[in-house]
Amino acid sequence: TDKKITLLGLGAMGTALARTWLAAGYELTVWNRTASRAEPLAAEGAAVAASAAEAVAASPVVVACLLDDASVGEALADAGLAGKDLVNITTGTPAQARARSDWATARGARYLDGGIMAVPPMIGVPEAGAYVFYSGSEALFEERRDALAVPAAARYVGGDAGSAALHDVALLSAMMGMFGGISHAFALMRGTGVPPKETAALLVEWLTAMAGYANGMAAQLESGDYTLGVTSNLAMMVEGNATLLRTAEEQGVSAELLTPYMGLMERLLADGRGAESAAGVVDLLRKG
Ligand code: NDP
Repeated sequence: TDKKITLLGLGAMGTALARTWLAAGYELTVWNRTASRAEPLAAEGAAVAASAAEAVAASPVVVACLLDDASVGEALADAGLAGKDLVNITTGTPAQARARSDWATARGARYLDGGIMAVPPMIGVPEAGAYVFYSGSEALFEERRDALAVPAAARYVGGDAGSAALHDVALLSAMMGMFGGISHAFALMRGTGVPPKETAALLVEWLTAMAGYANGMAAQLESGDYTLGVTSNLAMMVEGNATLLRTAEEQGVSAELLTPYMGLMERLLADGRGAESAAGVVDLLRKG
């Protein structure tokens, strides 16, 4: 039974996960709402269950990789979860994860929630750096760690079932800001004769160099001293923002992705904090 796994959901991500367990010699049972998506995996050796309940019954460990939390509730509505280890790596919010944990525990299962930090082509490719945040039952995590680590590295972030989702969403949210900035930069450079791939190379180099400043912000947030090690103070940055906005206007580019962040920096400056870094923005956001 050590090598038996059930996987619910054969979308792009579920299918990628499934292949890694099959390749590693696991006895895999799969179920997908649209049955035809299971056919290629059946040909590769997976057992295909006719219903989610039948799939759950087949293995001690049940991994769910469905669209959203509602689809997990729907798929598992009449499955027998008593004694099962439910690992839900469907993306959701921290509160959804905690509620799903209570729901599964009330049905007699142990529960582990997960947030996948990868896109499907990174799954099963160790050098791609994919990993999954896990939180919830530590006993489940420790006992099933080997199986969980087959498709991507496994990182446990605590007993609060919502912790994995929070970590996942924090990183995705940071990525949104990054791609917002990247979109603005491409818009500025578009039509100027500089090939997009040259702009891309510059962006990757610059953003990689700048990302390390998250460590400086962390030191400031921990010490409460937002002047600690400041290399670019707010007074200077707010001046610089005016140049960014004027350039956008000159190039005929909307600055709508930049102005919300700049507005928060201006509020700090108006509050007399020009010698600090922009770390105070974190507090403005927390206070609403
Ligand atoms: P897909 O859209 O490719 O697949 C969605 C899956 O959910 C399908 O198996 C679909 O079944 C199933 N599903 C949807 N609604 C229901 C329902 N009501 N009941 C039962 N099954 C349902 O998504 P992915 O595979 O890409 O994503 C799966 C999860 O992985 C999501 O939570 C996503 O956020 C997460 N993830 C995905 C990443 C990616 O890059 N793809 C990256 C990181 C996380 P059917 O075939 O019948 O439609």
